[in-house]
Amino acid sequence: MRTETDADVVVVGAGPVGTVALALLGQAGLTAIGIEKDAEPWPTARAVHFDGETFRTLQSLGIAARLEEVTIPMTSLRVENEARETLVRIPTGRLGDQGWHDDINFHQPEVETQLRELVEDTSGVELRVGTEALKVRPADDGVEVDVLDSAGVETTLRARWVIAADGARSPVRQAVGIKSDRFGEDQKWVVVDGHLIDSPGYEDDMVFLSHHSRPALWVRLPGTRVRMEFMVMPNDDLDEIITPAGVERMSLGVLPADRFTAERQAIYTFRGRVARQWRSGPVFLAGDAAHQAPPLFGQGLCAGIRDVVNLIWKFELVANGSAGDELLDTYESERAPHARFWVEQAVQAALGVQTTDPEIAARRDAAIRTDPTSLAPVSPRLGPGLHTGAVNTRAGGLSIQPVLADGCRLDDRLGSGFIVVATTQTYDALDTATRSRLERDDHIVVLRDAEPGARQLLEASEAIGLVIRPDRYIFGTASSPAELTELVNLIPGFSPHPGYTAIGTDL
Ligand SMILES: Cc1cc2nc3c(=O)[nH]c(=O)nc-3n(C[C@H](O)[C@H](O)[C@H](O)COP(=O)(O)OP(=O)(O)OC[C@H]3O[C@@H](n4cnc5c(N)ncnc54)[C@H](O)[C@@H]3O)c2cc1C
Repeated sequence: MRTETDADVVVVGAGPVGTVALALLGQAGLTAIGIEKDAEPWPTARAVHFDGETFRTLQSLGIAARLEEVTIPMTSLRVENEARETLVRIPTGRLGDQGWHDDINFHQPEVETQLRELVEDTSGVELRVGTEALKVRPADDGVEVDVLDSAGVETTLRARWVIAADGARSPVRQAVGIKSDRFGEDQKWVVVDGHLIDSPGYEDDMVFLSHHSRPALWVRLPGTRVRMEFMVMPNDDLDEIITPAGVERMSLGVLPADRFTAERQAIYTFRGRVARQWRSGPVFLAGDAAHQAPPLFGQGLCAGIRDVVNLIWKFELVANGSAGDELLDTYESERAPHARFWVEQAVQAALGVQTTDPEIAARRDAAIRTDPTSLAPVSPRLGPGLHTGAVNTRAGGLSIQPVLADGCRLDDRLGSGFIVVATTQTYDALDTATRSRLERDDHIVVLRDAEPGARQLLEASEAIGLVIRPDRYIFGTASSPAELTELVNLIPGFSPHPGYTAIGTDL
Protein backbone atom coordinates (compact mmCIF):
# COMPACT_ATOMS: atom_id res chain seq x y z
CA MET A 1 0.00 0.00 0.00
CA ARG A 2 1.30 3.50 -0.90
CA THR A 3 0.78 6.58 1.25
CA GLU A 4 0.24 10.08 -0.07
CA THR A 5 0.08 13.26 1.99
CA ASP A 6 -1.16 15.73 -0.42
CA ALA A 7 -4.48 17.44 -0.15
CA ASP A 8 -6.34 19.86 2.06
CA VAL A 9 -9.56 17.95 1.33
CA VAL A 10 -10.57 14.52 0.04
CA VAL A 11 -14.04 14.50 -1.51
CA VAL A 12 -15.64 11.04 -1.51
CA GLY A 13 -18.17 10.76 -4.35
CA ALA A 14 -18.33 12.76 -7.57
CA GLY A 15 -22.03 13.03 -8.17
CA PRO A 16 -23.09 16.60 -8.84
CA VAL A 17 -22.49 17.68 -5.23
CA GLY A 18 -18.96 16.23 -4.98
CA THR A 19 -18.05 17.65 -8.38
CA VAL A 20 -19.26 21.15 -7.48
CA ALA A 21 -17.34 20.82 -4.18
CA LEU A 22 -14.11 20.08 -6.08
CA ALA A 23 -14.59 23.11 -8.34
CA LEU A 24 -15.32 25.37 -5.35
CA LEU A 25 -12.29 24.03 -3.45
CA GLY A 26 -10.04 24.80 -6.41
CA GLN A 27 -11.53 28.27 -6.72
CA ALA A 28 -10.85 28.85 -3.00
CA GLY A 29 -7.18 27.99 -3.53
CA LEU A 30 -7.39 24.72 -1.58
CA THR A 31 -6.02 21.42 -2.88
CA ALA A 32 -8.39 18.48 -3.18
CA ILE A 33 -8.67 14.94 -4.49
CA GLY A 34 -12.04 13.57 -5.54
CA ILE A 35 -12.64 9.84 -5.31
CA GLU A 36 -15.39 8.29 -7.43
CA LYS A 37 -15.97 4.56 -7.64
CA ASP A 38 -17.77 4.63 -10.99
CA ALA A 39 -15.73 5.16 -14.15
CA GLU A 40 -18.44 7.26 -15.86
CA PRO A 41 -21.00 9.77 -14.51
CA TRP A 42 -24.23 8.10 -13.43
CA PRO A 43 -26.13 7.55 -16.73
CA THR A 44 -29.57 7.61 -15.09
CA ALA A 45 -30.92 11.13 -14.86
CA ARG A 46 -32.47 12.14 -11.57
CA ALA A 47 -32.61 15.90 -10.99
CA VAL A 48 -34.32 17.98 -13.69
CA HIS A 49 -34.72 21.35 -11.95
CA PHE A 50 -32.42 23.99 -10.46
CA ASP A 51 -33.47 27.13 -8.65
CA GLY A 52 -31.98 30.59 -9.24
CA GLU A 53 -29.71 30.32 -6.18
CA THR A 54 -28.08 27.18 -7.57
CA PHE A 55 -27.58 28.79 -10.95
CA ARG A 56 -25.97 31.77 -9.18
CA THR A 57 -23.46 29.36 -7.63
CA LEU A 58 -22.72 27.88 -11.04
CA GLN A 59 -22.30 31.43 -12.34
CA SER A 60 -19.67 32.01 -9.63
CA LEU A 61 -17.78 29.03 -11.04
CA GLY A 62 -17.73 30.69 -14.47
CA ILE A 63 -19.88 28.13 -16.30
CA ALA A 64 -23.25 29.86 -16.51
CA ALA A 65 -22.93 30.58 -20.24
CA ARG A 66 -22.08 26.94 -20.98
CA LEU A 67 -24.96 25.73 -18.84
CA GLU A 68 -27.44 28.08 -20.46
CA GLU A 69 -26.93 26.04 -23.63
CA VAL A 70 -28.16 22.85 -21.95
CA THR A 71 -30.92 24.27 -19.74
CA ILE A 72 -34.31 25.98 -20.28
CA PRO A 73 -36.18 28.36 -17.99
CA MET A 74 -39.40 26.75 -16.82
CA THR A 75 -42.27 29.01 -17.91
CA SER A 76 -45.33 27.54 -16.21
CA LEU A 77 -46.38 25.07 -13.57
CA ARG A 78 -49.86 23.60 -13.33
CA VAL A 79 -51.64 21.27 -10.93
CA GLU A 80 -54.62 19.21 -12.09
CA ASN A 81 -56.86 16.71 -10.32
CA GLU A 82 -58.43 13.38 -11.30
CA ALA A 83 -61.18 15.21 -13.22
CA ARG A 84 -58.42 16.93 -15.28
CA GLU A 85 -59.51 20.22 -13.74
CA THR A 86 -56.71 22.80 -13.29
CA LEU A 87 -56.44 23.58 -9.60
CA VAL A 88 -53.78 26.24 -10.06
CA ARG A 89 -51.48 27.47 -12.82
CA ILE A 90 -48.40 29.40 -11.72
CA PRO A 91 -46.44 31.44 -14.26
CA THR A 92 -42.80 30.69 -13.39
CA GLY A 93 -40.75 32.09 -16.26
CA ARG A 94 -39.56 35.28 -14.62
CA LEU A 95 -36.12 36.56 -13.77
CA GLY A 96 -35.91 36.11 -10.03
CA ASP A 97 -34.03 38.00 -7.33
CA GLN A 98 -30.95 35.81 -7.80
CA GLY A 99 -30.34 37.33 -11.24
CA TRP A 100 -31.51 34.11 -12.93
CA HIS A 101 -34.84 32.46 -13.59
CA ASP A 102 -36.30 30.96 -10.43
CA ASP A 103 -36.94 27.61 -12.12
CA ILE A 104 -34.60 26.07 -14.68
CA ASN A 105 -35.01 22.63 -16.27
CA PHE A 106 -32.21 20.39 -17.54
CA HIS A 107 -31.09 16.86 -18.33
CA GLN A 108 -28.73 15.88 -15.49
CA PRO A 109 -26.10 13.97 -17.51
CA GLU A 110 -25.51 17.07 -19.72
CA VAL A 111 -25.00 19.26 -16.67
CA GLU A 112 -22.70 16.69 -15.02
CA THR A 113 -20.53 16.55 -18.15
CA GLN A 114 -20.01 20.31 -17.91
CA LEU A 115 -19.18 20.05 -14.20
CA ARG A 116 -16.61 17.30 -14.79
CA GLU A 117 -14.96 19.39 -17.53
CA LEU A 118 -14.82 22.33 -15.15
CA VAL A 119 -13.00 20.23 -12.55
CA GLU A 120 -10.49 19.08 -15.18
CA ASP A 121 -9.75 22.73 -15.96
CA THR A 122 -9.40 23.77 -12.29
CA SER A 123 -5.92 23.83 -10.83
CA GLY A 124 -5.19 22.31 -7.44
CA VAL A 125 -7.95 19.69 -7.67
CA GLU A 126 -8.15 16.31 -9.37
CA LEU A 127 -10.81 13.67 -9.76
CA ARG A 128 -9.86 9.99 -9.66
CA VAL A 129 -12.64 7.94 -11.21
CA GLY A 130 -12.90 4.16 -10.95
CA THR A 131 -11.47 4.54 -7.43
CA GLU A 132 -13.34 3.52 -4.29
CA ALA A 133 -12.96 4.89 -0.79
CA LEU A 134 -12.62 1.88 1.50
CA LYS A 135 -11.98 3.38 4.92
CA VAL A 136 -11.92 6.79 6.53
CA ARG A 137 -10.22 7.28 9.90
CA PRO A 138 -9.10 10.28 11.94
CA ALA A 139 -5.34 10.82 12.02
CA ASP A 140 -3.01 13.40 13.57
CA ASP A 141 -4.16 16.81 12.37
CA GLY A 142 -6.63 15.39 9.93
CA VAL A 143 -7.90 12.25 8.35
CA GLU A 144 -6.73 9.24 6.34
CA VAL A 145 -8.71 7.67 3.51
CA ASP A 146 -7.83 4.23 2.12
CA VAL A 147 -8.71 4.04 -1.56
CA LEU A 148 -8.60 1.26 -4.14
CA ASP A 149 -8.08 2.22 -7.77
CA SER A 150 -9.24 0.37 -10.90
CA ALA A 151 -5.80 -1.29 -11.26
CA GLY A 152 -6.26 -2.85 -7.82
CA VAL A 153 -3.70 -0.57 -6.12
CA GLU A 154 -4.56 0.48 -2.57
CA THR A 155 -3.38 3.92 -1.42
CA THR A 156 -3.84 5.92 1.77
CA LEU A 157 -4.60 9.59 1.23
CA ARG A 158 -3.98 12.03 4.06
CA ALA A 159 -5.94 15.24 4.20
CA ARG A 160 -7.09 17.84 6.67
CA TRP A 161 -10.78 17.30 5.95
CA VAL A 162 -13.09 14.88 4.13
CA ILE A 163 -16.35 15.84 2.42
CA ALA A 164 -18.57 12.75 2.20
CA ALA A 165 -20.69 13.45 -0.91
CA ASP A 166 -21.18 9.74 -1.42
CA GLY A 167 -24.93 9.71 -1.93
CA ALA A 168 -27.99 8.50 -0.08
CA ARG A 169 -26.43 5.22 1.09
CA SER A 170 -23.23 7.05 2.10
CA PRO A 171 -20.75 4.39 3.17
CA VAL A 172 -18.80 7.16 4.94
CA ARG A 173 -21.85 8.22 6.99
CA GLN A 174 -22.38 4.61 7.98
CA ALA A 175 -18.70 4.10 8.80
CA VAL A 176 -18.62 7.09 11.17
CA GLY A 177 -21.85 5.80 12.76
CA ILE A 178 -24.21 8.69 11.99
CA LYS A 179 -27.90 7.77 11.94
CA SER A 180 -30.61 9.64 10.02
CA ASP A 181 -34.07 10.79 11.09
CA ARG A 182 -36.88 9.57 8.89
CA PHE A 183 -39.62 11.89 7.60
CA GLY A 184 -42.89 10.62 6.09
CA GLU A 185 -43.48 7.34 4.29
CA ASP A 186 -41.17 5.91 1.62
CA GLN A 187 -42.90 5.61 -1.74
CA LYS A 188 -41.83 3.97 -5.03
CA TRP A 189 -42.11 5.94 -8.29
CA VAL A 190 -41.23 5.01 -11.89
CA VAL A 191 -39.16 7.70 -13.60
CA VAL A 192 -39.11 7.80 -17.41
CA ASP A 193 -36.90 10.10 -19.51
CA GLY A 194 -36.92 10.22 -23.30
CA HIS A 195 -37.62 12.08 -26.52
CA LEU A 196 -41.19 12.99 -27.50
CA ILE A 197 -41.39 13.79 -31.22
CA ASP A 198 -44.43 14.87 -33.29
CA SER A 199 -46.67 14.78 -30.26
CA PRO A 200 -47.63 17.83 -28.21
CA GLY A 201 -47.33 16.53 -24.68
CA TYR A 202 -48.65 18.96 -22.07
CA GLU A 203 -48.61 22.66 -22.81
CA ASP A 204 -47.10 23.59 -19.43
CA ASP A 205 -43.46 22.89 -18.60
CA MET A 206 -44.32 21.16 -15.34
CA VAL A 207 -47.63 19.54 -14.48
CA PHE A 208 -48.47 17.81 -11.21
CA LEU A 209 -51.06 15.20 -12.21
CA SER A 210 -52.70 14.83 -8.84
CA HIS A 211 -54.85 11.93 -10.06
CA HIS A 212 -55.77 9.74 -7.13
CA SER A 213 -56.00 6.77 -9.51
CA ARG A 214 -52.24 7.24 -10.23
CA PRO A 215 -50.36 10.39 -9.19
CA ALA A 216 -47.87 11.49 -11.84
CA LEU A 217 -45.62 14.36 -12.90
CA TRP A 218 -44.76 15.83 -16.31
CA VAL A 219 -41.65 17.96 -16.97
CA ARG A 220 -40.49 19.45 -20.26
CA LEU A 221 -36.71 19.38 -20.66
CA PRO A 222 -34.41 21.00 -23.26
CA GLY A 223 -34.87 19.94 -26.90
CA THR A 224 -37.30 17.08 -27.45
CA ARG A 225 -36.64 15.55 -24.03
CA VAL A 226 -39.42 15.11 -21.51
CA ARG A 227 -39.61 13.47 -18.08
CA MET A 228 -42.63 11.71 -16.60
CA GLU A 229 -42.81 10.20 -13.15
CA PHE A 230 -45.58 7.80 -12.09
CA MET A 231 -46.34 6.54 -8.63
CA VAL A 232 -46.10 2.76 -8.39
CA MET A 233 -49.51 1.34 -7.41
CA PRO A 234 -50.01 -1.80 -5.27
CA ASN A 235 -51.08 -4.05 -8.17
CA ASP A 236 -48.47 -2.92 -10.68
CA ASP A 237 -46.39 -5.46 -12.54
CA LEU A 238 -42.93 -3.85 -12.21
CA ASP A 239 -41.73 -5.35 -15.50
CA GLU A 240 -44.80 -4.23 -17.44
CA ILE A 241 -44.94 -0.62 -16.28
CA ILE A 242 -41.58 0.17 -17.84
CA THR A 243 -42.51 -1.21 -21.28
CA PRO A 244 -43.52 1.31 -24.02
CA ALA A 245 -47.12 0.08 -23.75
CA GLY A 246 -47.04 0.42 -19.97
CA VAL A 247 -45.68 3.97 -20.22
CA GLU A 248 -48.33 4.92 -22.81
CA ARG A 249 -51.06 3.57 -20.56
CA MET A 250 -49.80 5.25 -17.37
CA SER A 251 -49.32 8.56 -19.21
CA LEU A 252 -52.96 8.40 -20.42
CA GLY A 253 -51.67 8.54 -24.00
CA VAL A 254 -49.39 11.56 -23.56
CA LEU A 255 -46.29 9.42 -24.27
CA PRO A 256 -47.53 7.26 -27.20
CA ALA A 257 -45.32 4.24 -27.87
CA ASP A 258 -44.79 5.27 -31.51
CA ARG A 259 -43.79 8.90 -30.72
CA PHE A 260 -41.93 8.56 -27.45
CA THR A 261 -38.49 6.95 -27.28
CA ALA A 262 -37.47 6.22 -23.73
CA GLU A 263 -33.77 6.72 -22.93
CA ARG A 264 -34.04 5.39 -19.43
CA GLN A 265 -36.60 4.15 -16.94
CA ALA A 266 -35.89 3.51 -13.29
CA ILE A 267 -37.86 2.81 -10.15
CA TYR A 268 -36.82 5.08 -7.28
CA THR A 269 -37.90 5.11 -3.68
CA PHE A 270 -38.72 8.70 -2.73
CA ARG A 271 -37.86 9.22 0.91
CA GLY A 272 -37.31 11.91 3.51
CA ARG A 273 -34.17 11.64 5.66
CA VAL A 274 -31.90 14.04 7.52
CA ALA A 275 -28.65 12.94 9.16
CA ARG A 276 -28.64 13.50 12.93
CA GLN A 277 -25.15 14.89 12.79
CA TRP A 278 -23.39 16.47 9.80
CA ARG A 279 -19.86 16.53 11.16
CA SER A 280 -17.73 13.86 12.77
CA GLY A 281 -14.34 15.45 13.55
CA PRO A 282 -12.70 16.12 10.19
CA VAL A 283 -15.51 14.41 8.21
CA PHE A 284 -18.41 16.50 6.83
CA LEU A 285 -21.52 15.02 5.19
CA ALA A 286 -22.96 16.84 2.15
CA GLY A 287 -25.70 16.32 -0.44
CA ASP A 288 -27.78 13.15 -0.32
CA ALA A 289 -25.38 11.76 2.30
CA ALA A 290 -26.79 14.40 4.69
CA HIS A 291 -30.41 14.73 3.52
CA GLN A 292 -32.90 13.30 1.04
CA ALA A 293 -36.31 14.68 0.12
CA PRO A 294 -39.11 13.40 -2.13
CA PRO A 295 -38.28 15.45 -5.26
CA LEU A 296 -41.54 17.42 -5.31
CA PHE A 297 -39.98 20.86 -4.99
CA GLY A 298 -36.88 19.94 -7.04
CA GLN A 299 -34.70 20.88 -4.08
CA GLY A 300 -32.55 17.82 -3.26
CA LEU A 301 -29.63 18.66 -5.47
CA CYS A 302 -30.08 22.40 -4.91
CA ALA A 303 -29.79 21.73 -1.16
CA GLY A 304 -26.68 19.59 -1.71
CA ILE A 305 -24.99 22.38 -3.66
CA ARG A 306 -25.96 24.84 -0.90
CA ASP A 307 -24.18 22.53 1.57
CA VAL A 308 -20.82 22.68 -0.14
CA VAL A 309 -21.14 26.41 -0.87
CA ASN A 310 -21.71 26.94 2.87
CA LEU A 311 -18.75 24.76 3.90
CA ILE A 312 -15.95 25.61 1.52
CA TRP A 313 -15.41 29.32 2.22
CA LYS A 314 -15.27 28.35 5.90
CA PHE A 315 -12.53 25.79 5.10
CA GLU A 316 -10.67 28.61 3.34
CA LEU A 317 -10.92 30.90 6.39
CA VAL A 318 -9.69 28.17 8.73
CA ALA A 319 -6.91 27.13 6.35
CA ASN A 320 -5.59 30.70 6.05
CA GLY A 321 -5.75 31.28 9.81
CA SER A 322 -8.58 33.85 9.74
CA ALA A 323 -10.83 31.62 11.88
CA GLY A 324 -10.51 28.70 14.27
CA ASP A 325 -11.78 25.18 13.68
CA GLU A 326 -14.97 25.95 15.64
CA LEU A 327 -16.19 28.00 12.68
CA LEU A 328 -16.72 24.68 10.89
CA ASP A 329 -19.37 23.72 13.47
CA THR A 330 -21.57 26.43 11.96
CA TYR A 331 -21.85 24.28 8.82
CA GLU A 332 -24.28 21.94 10.55
CA SER A 333 -25.96 24.56 12.73
CA GLU A 334 -26.70 26.74 9.68
CA ARG A 335 -27.44 24.13 7.03
CA ALA A 336 -29.25 21.33 8.88
CA PRO A 337 -32.39 23.33 9.85
CA HIS A 338 -32.55 24.81 6.35
CA ALA A 339 -32.31 21.38 4.68
CA ARG A 340 -34.79 19.92 7.18
CA PHE A 341 -37.29 22.65 6.23
CA TRP A 342 -37.22 21.53 2.58
CA VAL A 343 -37.46 17.84 3.50
CA GLU A 344 -40.49 18.56 5.71
CA GLN A 345 -42.12 20.70 3.00
CA ALA A 346 -41.61 17.97 0.40
CA VAL A 347 -42.93 15.26 2.72
CA GLN A 348 -45.98 17.39 3.51
CA ALA A 349 -46.61 18.07 -0.19
CA ALA A 350 -46.18 14.35 -0.92
CA LEU A 351 -49.08 13.57 1.42
CA GLY A 352 -51.34 15.58 -0.89
CA VAL A 353 -49.80 14.71 -4.25
CA GLN A 354 -49.49 11.00 -3.54
CA THR A 355 -52.88 10.37 -2.05
CA THR A 356 -54.98 7.63 -3.64
CA ASP A 357 -57.96 8.31 -1.38
CA PRO A 358 -60.68 10.30 -3.25
CA GLU A 359 -61.88 12.01 -0.06
CA ILE A 360 -58.41 13.18 0.93
CA ALA A 361 -57.85 14.25 -2.71
CA ALA A 362 -61.05 16.33 -2.60
CA ARG A 363 -59.91 18.05 0.63
CA ARG A 364 -56.48 18.67 -0.93
CA ASP A 365 -58.12 20.22 -4.02
CA ALA A 366 -60.17 22.55 -1.83
CA ALA A 367 -57.06 23.53 0.15
CA ILE A 368 -55.10 24.33 -3.03
CA ARG A 369 -57.97 26.41 -4.42
CA THR A 370 -58.13 28.36 -1.15
CA ASP A 371 -54.37 28.87 -0.79
CA PRO A 372 -52.27 28.14 -3.88
CA THR A 373 -49.20 29.68 -2.16
CA SER A 374 -48.83 26.44 -0.15
CA LEU A 375 -47.31 25.05 -3.36
CA ALA A 376 -44.48 27.58 -3.33
CA PRO A 377 -42.83 27.63 0.08
CA VAL A 378 -40.40 30.46 0.75
CA SER A 379 -36.85 29.39 1.56
CA PRO A 380 -36.05 30.00 5.25
CA ARG A 381 -33.04 31.76 6.76
CA LEU A 382 -30.04 29.74 7.83
CA GLY A 383 -29.94 28.24 11.29
CA PRO A 384 -27.75 29.86 13.98
CA GLY A 385 -24.16 30.43 12.94
CA LEU A 386 -21.89 33.09 11.52
CA HIS A 387 -24.41 35.89 11.10
CA THR A 388 -26.26 38.30 13.35
CA GLY A 389 -29.65 36.70 12.89
CA ALA A 390 -30.30 36.62 16.63
CA VAL A 391 -30.76 40.39 16.57
CA ASN A 392 -31.44 41.05 12.91
CA THR A 393 -34.29 39.69 10.84
CA ARG A 394 -32.44 39.90 7.49
CA ALA A 395 -29.25 38.20 8.63
CA GLY A 396 -28.95 34.56 7.62
CA GLY A 397 -31.18 35.17 4.58
CA LEU A 398 -30.00 35.00 1.00
CA SER A 399 -29.00 38.33 -0.58
CA ILE A 400 -30.36 39.35 -3.96
CA GLN A 401 -28.17 39.61 -7.05
CA PRO A 402 -28.97 42.77 -9.04
CA VAL A 403 -28.66 42.68 -12.83
CA LEU A 404 -26.98 45.95 -13.78
CA ALA A 405 -28.01 48.38 -16.53
CA ASP A 406 -25.36 46.95 -18.88
CA GLY A 407 -26.77 43.42 -18.38
CA CYS A 408 -23.88 42.34 -16.16
CA ARG A 409 -24.78 40.39 -13.02
CA LEU A 410 -23.33 42.01 -9.91
CA ASP A 411 -21.49 38.94 -8.56
CA ASP A 412 -19.36 38.90 -11.71
CA ARG A 413 -17.95 42.30 -10.64
CA LEU A 414 -17.36 41.46 -7.01
CA GLY A 415 -15.31 38.27 -6.72
CA SER A 416 -15.80 35.74 -3.96
CA GLY A 417 -15.03 37.46 -0.62
CA PHE A 418 -17.13 39.38 1.92
CA ILE A 419 -18.95 42.45 0.58
CA VAL A 420 -19.59 45.57 2.62
CA VAL A 421 -22.34 47.76 1.17
CA ALA A 422 -23.10 51.20 2.56
CA THR A 423 -24.55 54.55 1.68
CA THR A 424 -21.72 57.00 1.04
CA GLN A 425 -22.81 58.98 4.10
CA THR A 426 -22.66 55.88 6.31
CA TYR A 427 -19.31 54.77 4.92
CA ASP A 428 -17.78 58.21 5.37
CA ALA A 429 -18.96 58.23 8.98
CA LEU A 430 -17.01 55.06 9.83
CA ASP A 431 -13.92 55.70 11.93
CA THR A 432 -10.72 56.22 9.98
CA ALA A 433 -9.05 53.05 11.27
CA THR A 434 -11.96 50.84 10.13
CA ARG A 435 -12.09 52.53 6.74
CA SER A 436 -8.38 52.23 6.09
CA ARG A 437 -8.37 48.57 7.15
CA LEU A 438 -11.35 47.90 4.86
CA GLU A 439 -9.56 49.56 1.97
CA ARG A 440 -6.41 47.49 2.56
CA ASP A 441 -8.22 44.15 2.94
CA ASP A 442 -8.03 42.14 -0.30
CA HIS A 443 -10.77 39.76 0.83
CA ILE A 444 -13.42 42.42 1.35
CA VAL A 445 -15.07 44.45 -1.39
CA VAL A 446 -16.64 47.77 -0.45
CA LEU A 447 -19.62 48.96 -2.47
CA ARG A 448 -20.96 52.46 -1.91
CA ASP A 449 -24.42 53.55 -2.99
CA ALA A 450 -23.22 55.47 -6.02
CA GLU A 451 -21.81 52.23 -7.42
CA PRO A 452 -23.93 49.93 -9.61
CA GLY A 453 -26.05 47.49 -7.66
CA ALA A 454 -25.43 48.98 -4.20
CA ARG A 455 -28.70 50.82 -3.96
CA GLN A 456 -30.74 47.72 -4.88
CA LEU A 457 -28.92 45.69 -2.21
CA LEU A 458 -29.56 48.31 0.44
CA GLU A 459 -33.20 48.78 -0.54
CA ALA A 460 -33.84 45.03 -0.53
CA SER A 461 -32.46 44.89 3.02
CA GLU A 462 -34.06 48.17 4.16
CA ALA A 463 -30.70 49.17 5.62
CA ILE A 464 -28.04 51.85 5.25
CA GLY A 465 -25.27 49.30 5.59
CA LEU A 466 -24.98 45.59 4.95
CA VAL A 467 -22.37 42.83 5.02
CA ILE A 468 -22.73 39.86 2.67
CA ARG A 469 -20.79 36.62 3.17
CA PRO A 470 -18.83 34.81 0.46
CA ASP A 471 -21.77 32.39 0.01
CA ARG A 472 -23.99 35.45 -0.60
CA TYR A 473 -26.00 35.00 2.59
CA ILE A 474 -26.43 38.14 4.66
CA PHE A 475 -23.99 38.42 7.56
CA GLY A 476 -25.88 41.37 9.02
CA THR A 477 -27.44 44.74 8.28
CA ALA A 478 -26.85 48.09 9.94
CA SER A 479 -29.00 51.12 10.62
CA SER A 480 -26.15 53.39 11.76
CA PRO A 481 -22.40 53.81 11.14
CA ALA A 482 -21.75 52.45 14.65
CA GLU A 483 -23.67 49.26 13.84
CA LEU A 484 -21.80 48.86 10.57
CA THR A 485 -18.46 49.29 12.37
CA GLU A 486 -19.49 46.61 14.85
CA LEU A 487 -20.56 44.32 12.02
CA VAL A 488 -17.39 44.60 9.92
CA ASN A 489 -15.31 43.95 13.02
CA LEU A 490 -17.06 40.59 13.36
CA ILE A 491 -15.88 39.47 9.91
CA PRO A 492 -13.41 36.62 10.57
CA GLY A 493 -9.86 37.78 9.92
CA PHE A 494 -10.81 41.47 9.81
CA SER A 495 -10.59 42.42 13.43
CA PRO A 496 -7.10 43.13 14.82
CA HIS A 497 -8.17 40.90 17.72
CA PRO A 498 -9.41 37.90 15.78
CA GLY A 499 -11.67 35.55 17.60
CA TYR A 500 -14.79 33.92 16.33
CA THR A 501 -17.92 34.02 18.45
CA ALA A 502 -21.03 32.11 17.45
CA ILE A 503 -23.85 34.48 16.71
CA GLY A 504 -27.12 33.55 15.14
CA THR A 505 -30.81 33.04 15.10
CA ASP A 506 -33.40 30.36 15.51
CA LEU A 507 -35.57 29.73 12.49
C1 LIG B 1 -36.34 10.94 -9.67
C2 LIG B 1 -35.58 12.02 -8.97
C3 LIG B 1 -35.79 13.33 -9.35
C4 LIG B 1 -35.09 14.35 -8.73
N1 LIG B 1 -35.30 15.63 -9.13
C5 LIG B 1 -34.59 16.63 -8.55
C6 LIG B 1 -34.71 17.95 -9.04
O1 LIG B 1 -35.42 18.21 -9.99
N2 LIG B 1 -33.96 18.94 -8.44
C7 LIG B 1 -33.12 18.68 -7.41
O2 LIG B 1 -32.48 19.61 -6.90
N3 LIG B 1 -32.97 17.41 -6.94
C8 LIG B 1 -33.67 16.40 -7.50
N4 LIG B 1 -33.50 15.11 -7.07
C9 LIG B 1 -32.50 14.83 -6.03
C10 LIG B 1 -31.10 14.83 -6.64
O3 LIG B 1 -31.06 14.02 -7.78
C11 LIG B 1 -30.08 14.35 -5.63
O4 LIG B 1 -30.25 15.12 -4.46
C12 LIG B 1 -28.66 14.55 -6.15
O5 LIG B 1 -28.46 13.87 -7.36
C13 LIG B 1 -27.67 14.02 -5.11
O6 LIG B 1 -26.37 14.29 -5.54
P1 LIG B 1 -25.13 13.79 -4.66
O7 LIG B 1 -23.93 14.25 -5.43
O8 LIG B 1 -25.30 14.19 -3.25
O9 LIG B 1 -25.24 12.21 -4.65
P2 LIG B 1 -25.08 11.13 -5.87
O10 LIG B 1 -25.45 11.77 -7.18
O11 LIG B 1 -25.80 9.96 -5.41
O12 LIG B 1 -23.52 10.89 -5.93
C14 LIG B 1 -22.85 10.08 -4.98
C15 LIG B 1 -21.61 9.52 -5.66
O13 LIG B 1 -20.78 8.88 -4.69
C16 LIG B 1 -20.20 7.75 -5.29
N5 LIG B 1 -19.75 6.87 -4.21
C17 LIG B 1 -20.51 6.25 -3.27
N6 LIG B 1 -19.72 5.54 -2.43
C18 LIG B 1 -18.45 5.72 -2.84
C19 LIG B 1 -17.18 5.24 -2.37
N7 LIG B 1 -17.08 4.45 -1.30
N8 LIG B 1 -16.07 5.61 -3.04
C20 LIG B 1 -16.14 6.42 -4.12
N9 LIG B 1 -17.33 6.89 -4.62
C21 LIG B 1 -18.45 6.56 -3.97
C22 LIG B 1 -21.32 7.18 -6.15
O14 LIG B 1 -20.81 6.35 -7.17
C23 LIG B 1 -21.95 8.46 -6.70
O15 LIG B 1 -21.40 8.84 -7.95
C24 LIG B 1 -34.18 14.06 -7.68
C25 LIG B 1 -33.97 12.72 -7.29
C26 LIG B 1 -34.68 11.72 -7.94
C27 LIG B 1 -34.43 10.30 -7.50
